[in-house]
Amino acid sequence: MGRLLISEKVENIKPYIVDKREYEVKLDANESFIPFPKVLENELKEAAVRVLYNRYPDPDAEELCRLYGDYCGIASKYVMAGNGSDELIQILVNGFLDKEDSLLTIKPDFSMYKFYASLIGAKVVEYDMGEDLVFDRDGFMEMARVNNAKLVIFSSPNNPTGGIIPREDILYIVQNADALVVVDEAYFEFYGETVIDKISEYENLAVLRTCSKAVGLAAARVGFLIAGEKVIGSARKIKPPFNVNSLSQAAAAVVLKHREVIDGNVEQIKTGRDMLYRALTELQITYGKEIIRVFPTYANFVYVKSPAAAQIFEELKEAGIIIRCFGDYLRINTGSTKENELFIDNFSKFVRLHSGADA
Ligand code: PMP
Repeated sequence: MGRLLISEKVENIKPYIVDKREYEVKLDANESFIPFPKVLENELKEAAVRVLYNRYPDPDAEELCRLYGDYCGIASKYVMAGNGSDELIQILVNGFLDKEDSLLTIKPDFSMYKFYASLIGAKVVEYDMGEDLVFDRDGFMEMARVNNAKLVIFSSPNNPTGGIIPREDILYIVQNADALVVVDEAYFEFYGETVIDKISEYENLAVLRTCSKAVGLAAARVGFLIAGEKVIGSARKIKPPFNVNSLSQAAAAVVLKHREVIDGNVEQIKTGRDMLYRALTELQITYGKEIIRVFPTYANFVYVKSPAAAQIFEELKEAGIIIRCFGDYLRINTGSTKENELFIDNFSKFVRLHSGADA
């Protein structure tokens, strides 16, 4: 029998773990809490019936890219669709990094940047924002230079912190880095500022967007790469030919034709996020920053620090509420008003328990 050898890089990789148990309140994946809109159900059904199930999908997702281009005011030649922006991250990592090349990202940031870079044997360099989440563009650029980074990638708004990197700092990085600079704007709609308007000016700038958050289509797996012709041309060359399936192309097209639906989602999600942020800030005022520290957010979630984070995370799970825990930090995305209330009630109780206030 032939022997199977698993490479060291695969042996050592930490997989992306998804908790698949059913929770009454699910605030862990930064999804939209808003179900597919009733007013678009008929359009969706008609689109699903029209799909040619015996044929492969449009490899260029032409209609979808045109609609997304319209949505963000960009010509469709600068837009490429992916099976989630996740796939686009992998395509960029594969296309712009060779083994031993350096990828520069931020700590903390979305874990899949590191994941895909490790898979191809690239070196991962992280700019650590430290406890206070401070970003200094010159320090960042110094790391890019010293490590000869070929790919620079970060999210803004940042997942998991909810913070942003100001536009002038992003453009400074783009102007000064001899690297492809990828700005992951997955949470753009909750913030409102973008650097998408600069992609035809800077050939080394690329922007990632997704339909999984504000558009409310995480199930469909649709993301977009927006960049100048050189980057788009390279990405098209190496992407799997039929990467976005026909049903997903059709579903996303239905929603993207209704900007008013997306705008409505964004308003509801921002209202929910503000509700969470206010409640958490009140806890910070009551118990002090040492017990619970809340960070400003421009996304659909809130990031907090607490020495009792891990215990509170387990206690919430017991109560049927799932959020994310990263060491001493917790990330909670907004749910419906009812879900937020359930979370806040339980969270307040557990914070009080660990604050020593009852002692
Ligand atoms: N980028 C960031 C910053 C994210 O938070 C996520 C989703 N958690 C993604 C990309 C991946 O999104 P998609 O569903 O489009 O693959």
